[in-house]
Amino acid sequence: MDKILYEPKSCYEVYKNDLHKIDEFAKQYIDFLNNCKTERETVKWIESKCKEINISTDINEDIFYRSFKDKCILIAKRGKKDLSKGIKIIGAHLDSPRLDLKQHPIFENEYLAMVKTHYYGGIRKHQWFSTPLAIHGVVVKKNGEKVNIKIGEDPEDPVFAIPDLLPHLAYKQNEKKLSEAFEAEKMNAIIGSVPYIENSENKIEEKIKYNVFTLLYEKYGITEDDLYSSELQFVPAHQARFVGIDKSLVGGYGQDDRICVFCAFKAFLEVEDPYYTQFVVFWDKEEIGSEGASSAKSRFVEYVIQEIIDKWGGRCSLGEVFFNTKAISADVHGALDPDYQDLHDKLNASKLGYGPVFCKFTGHRGKVGANDASAEYIAFLRDRLDRKNIPWQMAELGKVDEGGGGTIAKFLAKYGMDIIDFGPGILAMHSPFEISSKYDLYATYLAYKAFLE
Ligand SMILES: [Zn+2]
Repeated sequence: MDKILYEPKSCYEVYKNDLHKIDEFAKQYIDFLNNCKTERETVKWIESKCKEINISTDINEDIFYRSFKDKCILIAKRGKKDLSKGIKIIGAHLDSPRLDLKQHPIFENEYLAMVKTHYYGGIRKHQWFSTPLAIHGVVVKKNGEKVNIKIGEDPEDPVFAIPDLLPHLAYKQNEKKLSEAFEAEKMNAIIGSVPYIENSENKIEEKIKYNVFTLLYEKYGITEDDLYSSELQFVPAHQARFVGIDKSLVGGYGQDDRICVFCAFKAFLEVEDPYYTQFVVFWDKEEIGSEGASSAKSRFVEYVIQEIIDKWGGRCSLGEVFFNTKAISADVHGALDPDYQDLHDKLNASKLGYGPVFCKFTGHRGKVGANDASAEYIAFLRDRLDRKNIPWQMAELGKVDEGGGGTIAKFLAKYGMDIIDFGPGILAMHSPFEISSKYDLYATYLAYKAFLE
């Protein structure tokens, strides 16, 4: 007889014979997080891994990769079945909330030179004050030369910081609502404090700002107007590392959604001779609503599939491929926070360490704006996982009417494919230091592999 009642499975219990393997996997993941703090860096990392194992960009090969605008990337593997039978897709996003530098960022303020920011994605502003920040990104000169910038990662590098108020003078701020206490226009980071020493006749007005630009020019050959064509971001300067005396958890920046990128990429590489053609696609701009050319709303994947149909000699229509496609929107889930249990419906909440989480629908207030995955598709997926004894959970983000969110799922669902959100739970989502479980990390990788196989 089937087991009548459902019982969650702990990954630690299920994988107690694989603990060494899990540790190794988690170390690789931590290294990946430390090397990939922006979408461009993540695309570059994946490209370099592809090249290492001789995956090329040649679409005539059975396996190839295609990156787009340096901000999103797709890797495809040809299956034995005809394309008309559909594709297996795992899609994740490689952008994370952060503080972008404004296009005209550097100004002098009393005795400091500061950098203006414009936050990207859903942040809680107070978390970004008085914490070391690194600058990552590119500056493109008029002649097209691209200057890569990364300051604050090497132990010898300086970092940057937005100073928070001292408690002694924060009485009035303390009385304000959290949403009003920290103003976006006051999120300016310190970049310098000493003036340029003049040795010419010309009078320089803002000497501290001038000194900053002199240093930038000496090191990178860039001028103030070059910053108009730049994409620079402040990201947390700290390193990802194990959390807890038992080293069971991983803390670090950008785990939403690079934990899914890492698991999907690893899983994809290990599946040989697949039945169905497989895609892993890593998009940009999810955190600001999947807008723009490098996002899941763009036609990038659609056009690549059309190209494959033409090149691989299939006779099917694009519609046929999409209608038979099965996909996973690989994104993280907000795990039950033991200190804020009242925000969750505990019967429908996920816990760290109990496996990746299905989220049948996202959206807010009555499922508005949600992709609502079909019962038929969930049945197919849970059968897949249960056959391999892979722990998984089913949850909602929080209590109904408590908040909400969205993912890339609905933008792919419009093509008619089956798709559901499925990824590990994390704590402190969108913070500079998100926390995941290394056991969930491992189970997620195995689950994605089971889906692709
Ligand atoms: Zn996400």
